[in-house]
Amino acid sequence: MFFREYTIKRIFQGRLLKGSDIIEDIKAFLKEKSVQSGIISGIGAATKANIGYYDQEARIYKIHTFDEPMEILSLKGNISIKDHDAFPHLHGVFSRKDGFCIGGHIFEGTEVFAFEFEIVEFVGDPFIRYFDDETGLYLWAK
Ligand code: ZN
Repeated sequence: MFFREYTIKRIFQGRLLKGSDIIEDIKAFLKEKSVQSGIISGIGAATKANIGYYDQEARIYKIHTFDEPMEILSLKGNISIKDHDAFPHLHGVFSRKDGFCIGGHIFEGTEVFAFEFEIVEFVGDPFIRYFDDETGLYLWAK
């Protein structure tokens, strides 16, 4: 295990507009505000979700597209650096019309019906993501 200890710099609370792409809009916000490390959470509703499951054997994301109205019950994630830019790593749980849930890693193309979020920015050096041979993922390095 390794970790860093941070203090809180700023807290943002806001709402994405209907039709927003969650990943793209959060990325743009992080860039605009120069946020490089922190945590994200949010709730709301989506009109479409691109949700990934990482196949550990094949070492590839299998992306499922759910093109239907859903509640965003819980979205949470972290912010660090990947390829020199702030990268939001987000997971979400979505409920469908019948109340059953789906979830996973959120990819671009996940569209907002309504979305309320909080972003907590940390003070200190952000973690940087590097390709990890053992998992095939871009993970934090010490
Ligand atoms: Zn993930």
